[in-house]
Amino acid sequence: MNLNIDQIRGLFPVLHQEVHGKPLVYLDNAATTQKPKSVLDRLTAYYEQDNSNIHRGAHTLADRATRDYEEVRETVQNFIGAKEAAEVIFTKGTTEGINLVAKTFGYKFIHEGDEIIISTMEHHSNIVPWQMLCEEKGAILKVIPILDSGEILFEEFEKLLSKKTKLVSIVHASNALGTINPVKKIIDAAHGFGAKVLLDGAQSTSHLEIDVQELDCDFLTFSAHKLYGPTGLGILYGKREILEAMPPFLGGGEMIREVSFERTTYNDIPFKFEAGTPNIADVIAFKPALDFINGIGKTAIKGHEDELLQYANDLLLPIKGFIPVGTAQNKVSVISFNIQGMHPFDVGQMLDARGIAVRTGHHCTQPLMKRFGIEGTVRASFSVYNSKSEVENLAESVSRIAKIKNK
Ligand code: PMP
Repeated sequence: MNLNIDQIRGLFPVLHQEVHGKPLVYLDNAATTQKPKSVLDRLTAYYEQDNSNIHRGAHTLADRATRDYEEVRETVQNFIGAKEAAEVIFTKGTTEGINLVAKTFGYKFIHEGDEIIISTMEHHSNIVPWQMLCEEKGAILKVIPILDSGEILFEEFEKLLSKKTKLVSIVHASNALGTINPVKKIIDAAHGFGAKVLLDGAQSTSHLEIDVQELDCDFLTFSAHKLYGPTGLGILYGKREILEAMPPFLGGGEMIREVSFERTTYNDIPFKFEAGTPNIADVIAFKPALDFINGIGKTAIKGHEDELLQYANDLLLPIKGFIPVGTAQNKVSVISFNIQGMHPFDVGQMLDARGIAVRTGHHCTQPLMKRFGIEGTVRASFSVYNSKSEVENLAESVSRIAKIKNK
């Protein structure tokens, strides 16, 4: 299917501006995607017409807001193929989702001598919460090594698995390299040892079809802002029986059934994990973002992004001094690279001067950068609204910048 990229770009107001006198070329989509006007309009409409607190109100506005908020839970349920909407918990983002699991599931089910497995390519948010837990509990963190291509060594993962493994927490697609991990194989192998599996879906959910029942993952976390939705909102999916067995995360309103000074009983899922007034407006405005994705379809989105990735590889790889970082075959639309003799930050600044927005640095994956013996990379990441001419612009600019040190 050939997408009408001009038409899609027309839905995103922010794209139509100049930066340093040049048309904006936004290639920092792995950090956050831009928002279609439908999302911005929904936010305004909520505050103009429906603003009220949900679940407890006895009035029309509260009823409307509650209905819209809960409808999004169902949209998310369908988006990830969950068995029921109650398995969808609204959080602040991927980071909070992982911390929630560490502080509740981890607190109750992981003990001294137990093991947690992560990979070399994890985002800091899928490293630090487990280190904190291991420190508190005397548990052990094990790390799956990777190849120079940026792919995990599956046989090494299998060697790490044992009856001591309580949890495997792994990124579905790497933010720094783009590598798509063989998560189905990982989940099946981990389940063979009775371990639970958490998938960090921050970078996969916008590109890949996800069906949590088919994958059989125990947890999935992701952030709305990487899916054309608002910031400050994330999703934690968990299987009902596991969520029910977990203690609550935060204590307060909404998460209780009954409170007395002697004893409190807790609400059912998902409310047990949504203490306090949630991010109502952003949840409601996430619906048009998901509608936007569903309207195009992930297959068409991934198809377009793969074409851009291939085109970018074709144009960038021959450039003298261009050093790709992470060359896996199975990738989402992320290109990480360095220019021989140049600091990634300087390359990023020179691209910005040409209106091109990329990310530079360690991408919150310092251990991964250490594995490659580098301080950081320049990262260009493509989205459905990026065009081939933007890729050409990037390649032409990189070529000019590379010539400074690579004659
Ligand atoms: N994991 C990965 C793979 C990510 O790319 C990100 C965001 N860069 C996160 C976790 C954290 O997401 P957030 O900052 O939205 O909580």
